[in-house]
Amino acid sequence: MNGIRLAARREEKRTQFTVGEVTVGKDLLLIAGPCSVESEEQMWETARAARAAGANMLRGGAFKPRSSPYSFQGMGLAGVKILRRVGDEFGLPVVTEVMDTRDVAWLGEFADVLQVGARNMQNFALLKEVGRSRRPVILKRGMNATLEEWLSSAEYILSEGNDRVILCERGIRTFERYTRNTMDLSAVPAVHELAHLPVIVDPSHGTGKVSLIPAMCLAAVAGGADGIMVEVHARPAEALCDADQALTPEQFAAIAAQVKTLAVFIRSTGADDRPAGDLAECRRRINQLDAWIMSLLRSRMELALQTRRFKTGVLDRGREEEVLGNVMQAVAGPLSEEFCRELYGRIMAESRRLQDSEETMRPALDPNGEPVLPTMERNGR
Ligand code: PEP
Ligand code: MN
Repeated sequence: MNGIRLAARREEKRTQFTVGEVTVGKDLLLIAGPCSVESEEQMWETARAARAAGANMLRGGAFKPRSSPYSFQGMGLAGVKILRRVGDEFGLPVVTEVMDTRDVAWLGEFADVLQVGARNMQNFALLKEVGRSRRPVILKRGMNATLEEWLSSAEYILSEGNDRVILCERGIRTFERYTRNTMDLSAVPAVHELAHLPVIVDPSHGTGKVSLIPAMCLAAVAGGADGIMVEVHARPAEALCDADQALTPEQFAAIAAQVKTLAVFIRSTGADDRPAGDLAECRRRINQLDAWIMSLLRSRMELALQTRRFKTGVLDRGREEEVLGNVMQAVAGPLSEEFCRELYGRIMAESRRLQDSEETMRPALDPNGEPVLPTMERNGR
C-alpha cells in the first residue's frame, strides 16, 4: 500500500497513548453511551450504569449525521455541554462526533476524543482539520471503504501532526439486508498487520440489532480488537436515534464482563500477537495465566464430580487412558511428556479422590430438587 506511510506498521511496536486514565492500545477500550445526547437525565442515568459496568469512556452524539434532514439532528452545543458535565461527574473521558470543519476547534475544548463518522471518512477538509487538533480522533470506516482507503484517511490526520488516531470498524454495506451492515471483523487483524494504530469495533452500527451485539463484541475481542464501542440507553424504547440497536445497561454489563474476561485470556496467551514488552509485563501475564489455570482446574474437578450422576461406582481405567492419550497428543513446545504424564496422573488421582470422598457424596439433585439416579446405560462413563 503505497500511500500508507505514517500509519504503516514497520516494527513490532504499536501505538499507545493515554486518554484520562486509559492507555489506548493497551487497556481494552469500553466505550458506551447513547447514539445521541437527549437530556441531562438520560445521559446521567446511562453514564452511571455504564461506569458501574466497567465502561472507560462515554459516548454521545450532539451532531448527528442523519440520512433524512427531517430526523432528529442532535442537541448541538447544549448536548456537548451535558456530555462534558456528565463525563466529569463519573470520571469518564467523553467522545463525540464532529461533522463540520468549523466545529473542530471549539468541540475539541469540550470533548476528550473527536469522532469522524463513517459518512465523513473521506471528508478530506475535516480530516485535515482534526489532524491539526490536539485531540485524539476515532476514525470510523466508511461503509463502502476498502482498508486502503480507510488507512489513507488516517494518513491525512497523521500527516497534519495528530498521531493519536483510533480506527473503528463499524460494518460495511453489502447485499445483506437482515443486518444494518456487514461486520468485517477480519479488518481487525488486517489493520494490525498493516498499521500500528489501535483498532476498535462498533457492533451497534455494524449489526443494527441488539441480539447480535454480544457475539460480535466477543468475536472482536477474540480477534485482537483494542476495544469496543456500543450504544447504550437507559430506556432503549425511548431513544430518539438508533433505538433498535440500543443496549440496556444490564445487557451492556453482561457484555462488559464477558469481554473483559476474554481480553485477559487473549492477551495473556499472546494470541493477539502482542509480545510482552518487559519483565513486569511477562510476570503480569504469568499471574493472569495462573488465575486461568486455577479456574480451569476448578471447572474440571466440578465436572468430574458431576459425572457421578451418570456412573456406577466401578472405576473405568479405559477412560483414564483415554484422557491421558488426549493430553499426550497436546504435548508441544516447551512441555515435556514426562511432566505432562506426571501432572495428569496427579489431576486424575485428585479427581478420583473427590469422586470417592464422603464429603462430596451428597446426592446430586435435578432442577426439581429430586436426587438424580445413576443411569445404567452409561455405566462406567
Ligand atoms: C455514531 O457512532 O453515532 C455513528 C453515526 O456511527 P457511523 O458514523 O459509524 O454510522
Ligand atoms: Mn447511532
